[in-house]
Amino acid sequence: MLPTTADIVIIGGGCMGASVAYYLAARGAGKVLLLEREKFLGMGSTGRNAGGIRYQFSTEVNIRLSMFSIDVIARFEELFGISACYHPIGYLFLLTTPREVKIFKANVALQQRVGVPCVRYLEPDEIARLVPLVNLDGVLGGTFCPRDGLADPNSITQGFAKGARARGAQIEMETTVTGIKTEHGRVAAVVTDRGEIATRTLVNCAGPWAAQIGAFAGLDIPIVPVRRQFFTTDALPQIPRDHAFVIEFATSLYFHPEGAGLLVGMSNPDEKPSESYAIDEEFHCQTLERAMARLPLLENACVASQIAGLYEVTPDAHPILAQARALSGLYIAAGFSGHGFQHCPATGKVMSELILDGNATTIDISALDLERFAEGRLVQEVNVV
Ligand SMILES: Cc1cc2nc3c(=O)[nH]c(=O)nc-3n(C[C@H](O)[C@H](O)[C@H](O)COP(=O)(O)OP(=O)(O)OC[C@H]3O[C@@H](n4cnc5c(N)ncnc54)[C@H](O)[C@@H]3O)c2cc1C
Repeated sequence: MLPTTADIVIIGGGCMGASVAYYLAARGAGKVLLLEREKFLGMGSTGRNAGGIRYQFSTEVNIRLSMFSIDVIARFEELFGISACYHPIGYLFLLTTPREVKIFKANVALQQRVGVPCVRYLEPDEIARLVPLVNLDGVLGGTFCPRDGLADPNSITQGFAKGARARGAQIEMETTVTGIKTEHGRVAAVVTDRGEIATRTLVNCAGPWAAQIGAFAGLDIPIVPVRRQFFTTDALPQIPRDHAFVIEFATSLYFHPEGAGLLVGMSNPDEKPSESYAIDEEFHCQTLERAMARLPLLENACVASQIAGLYEVTPDAHPILAQARALSGLYIAAGFSGHGFQHCPATGKVMSELILDGNATTIDISALDLERFAEGRLVQEVNVV
């Protein structure tokens, strides 16, 4: 039954909502309630992503979000009793312009200073030894971190949800939030299609739909949904299962082992914001062509599946992890701009600290407030795929 009151209500049952619910419940935060409109958890972006996890970001805050998160993901089975299927195959960024080389060398220096294990810059001959099947035409250098890799978004979402429920959190499916009531500048209740719940604390974990939740309270949250798509191939026994996750940075083409084949994606720079899950066949052909140029043996592969999902994009490609200054009690944990799955463990942790203690101590997230956009304090992440 849907309760009529809760201490904290979380909107959205993707990896973010599940993690926030877990870390709040683990702290004994009172009555924690998660609302998800779909029948199952992880039906939004969480269920449509490429499963990549990496330390290789260009800002300290993103690197620290990765460091905390990958540590949890690597120990997930021990902590939650469910394997996160962590495969540290390494991310290899291929760089094709002198400008990229300069930026990525600076990124590596920052990552090393912050404490990322084993990340390094590679010359073309080292890259050729690492990925002999890849055509390296035009490649000037690359960066590689062997601890980057893959994990399973579904298992992680389910693990957090299981952990949250075991600590008393309630998760209500098929419950759509339709409004927010406020009183004297603070949250008073959340309205759903199944009734109203009085609460003083709301956490907006609605991913690509986070702006819609903000609009219920008259808040402008600059997060837009943008379609991204990838495909998988049937078996490619020539590719070792521990082949590196390769990204051609200039085009954003990426591929990595998936099942017995490969997962291949690329971001369309001309894609306009929308909620479309339809496959753009023309862009699929462009992706295929680019992928065959980099990995010629793909000419012999068959496409097994195509998936489109939504990135939740902010103007600076960083999430909003904060309480809205204009509305006390409304917290936002959204806008990860295409790399949120890997940051969900750290997000749950820092949001629980922000909500319960008034500030996050595990990682300094003070630069990721909502107001930075209106006030021109953007924190640009350049390493976006
Ligand atoms: C093609 C693609 C590839 C990606 N690859 C990677 C990757 O390799 N690595 C990585 O880290 N990230 C990747 N991402 C990004 C990642 O998937 C997202 O950043 C992450 O899943 C966001 O999680 P979330 O929980 O915030 O959002 P979601 O999983 O979208 O969850 C939001 C939930 O809110 C619910 N909701 C919305 N409105 C309401 C409402 N009114 N009432 C109730 N519920 C509501 C939705 O139903 C949804 O379940 C990729 C994304 C895409 C699309």
